[in-house]
Amino acid sequence: MAIICNVYPPDGGRTKREVEDNPNADLGNSPMAWPATQKFRWTLENTVSGLDRATMEGAITRALDKWAEATKDTFKFTFAKSDAGTEPPPNMVISVVGPEGSDSDFAEGRDGSKVAAAARLGPAGATNTLDAETNTFQAPVKLNDSPTRPKWNPFMFHNCFLHEVGHSLGLGHTLTEGAVMGRSYQEGSKFFLEDVDLADDDKKRMTDYFTKKNKSSS
Ligand SMILES: [Zn+2]
Repeated sequence: MAIICNVYPPDGGRTKREVEDNPNADLGNSPMAWPATQKFRWTLENTVSGLDRATMEGAITRALDKWAEATKDTFKFTFAKSDAGTEPPPNMVISVVGPEGSDSDFAEGRDGSKVAAAARLGPAGATNTLDAETNTFQAPVKLNDSPTRPKWNPFMFHNCFLHEVGHSLGLGHTLTEGAVMGRSYQEGSKFFLEDVDLADDDKKRMTDYFTKKNKSSS
């Protein structure tokens, strides 16, 4: 069994359907990029089966620390926990689908693989204003705890979340073996057994993507 994720651009560009039908459509990065000093405020709405809130929030914090460390010399993303009801409101809402009900993002995979999570590629929102302080763009991450859920464990949750944030920041998938941004995680692999670190490939692709984006917008 493998776990996979569902990622597609928020507006325009490729559709979810095109990504499913074109074997390479998920390898591109977002056409839009966050401001280089974007502040992300995250909140965890609910927990998945088998994991408690403290475990999940600890894993989220460790994963975000890894992206913050990987981007600190080039751009200055910050990530902070934000409670519902605070101002400004969270812009990285981590939600859970289930335990009952279903979601089209979490249909059974064609080959028996389980869709663990879904994210939008890059900034998702309806306004044209991208401002690091006040923007209303969102980086939503959705976790599958519906009847099609994978069997969650603390390590694969950390690794899946690390992967989804890569999408939220704008990265597509990679074919590089062992990278966090690979398309699937095989059961029994390191992704189920330990908290992994970002691979050199993940870090390099993030740096290349933002360096290019910042050049083209200035
Ligand atoms: Zn993915």
